[in-house]
Amino acid sequence: MALRLYAATTSQGKLRDFRTAALAHGIQIDPLPGLDAIPAPEENGATFAENATLKAVYYSRFAPGQLVLADDSGLEVDALDGAPGVRSARFAADSGLTDSPDANDNSDVWNNMVLLQRLANVPQPRRTARYRCVLVAARDGQPLSTAEGVVEGRILDGPRGTGGFGYDPLFYLPELDRTMAEITLEAKLDRSHRGRAIAALLPLLPV
Ligand code: IMP
Repeated sequence: MALRLYAATTSQGKLRDFRTAALAHGIQIDPLPGLDAIPAPEENGATFAENATLKAVYYSRFAPGQLVLADDSGLEVDALDGAPGVRSARFAADSGLTDSPDANDNSDVWNNMVLLQRLANVPQPRRTARYRCVLVAARDGQPLSTAEGVVEGRILDGPRGTGGFGYDPLFYLPELDRTMAEITLEAKLDRSHRGRAIAALLPLLPV
């Protein structure tokens, strides 16, 4: 194996996506050793790129001399001026639902509910949206490579499918006539923002 990277993510789903895409390029991706014990930095950037960069820079200091990969991703809805964007994981909480215990336990459900409410008066043709993922590789506190992946879609009026996570049951891919929650993991990785970002990043890495 020519090159190894550490991924600064505790998400098994993301790790699996990164690993699968990287293996095709002969690159091995492992979780950053000791990640669970490292306090997470505050993700206070205004853009996905700022958040991915601050995470990659921060976590790379915990693995001296190693390439460390971090990402930030989310959903941008045109009719909501790009919201929820960098606040995708906390969309419902930002709307004041944090008082409900369920808002923390099952935030995907609450996030999707808030999204549907916000789009209630928006007709299908105007419900265009995209997932965006920005990936940054850093070493010893220096960002070295950045890449982005995007997938275009539309937000349905109600959920379809049981796969995926987050906004996937509402995220419709017109060319497949399926939501992200109705396609296989392989098909998702093939065309997802995350799959595209990693494919774009790997050739840029210093080998
Ligand atoms: P983060 O990149 O872990 O900060 O994720 C941001 C949020 O964006 C997630 O909690 C989801 O709500 C949403 N998101 C990012 N990628 C996806 C995806 O592939 N499917 C569904 N939701 C996603």
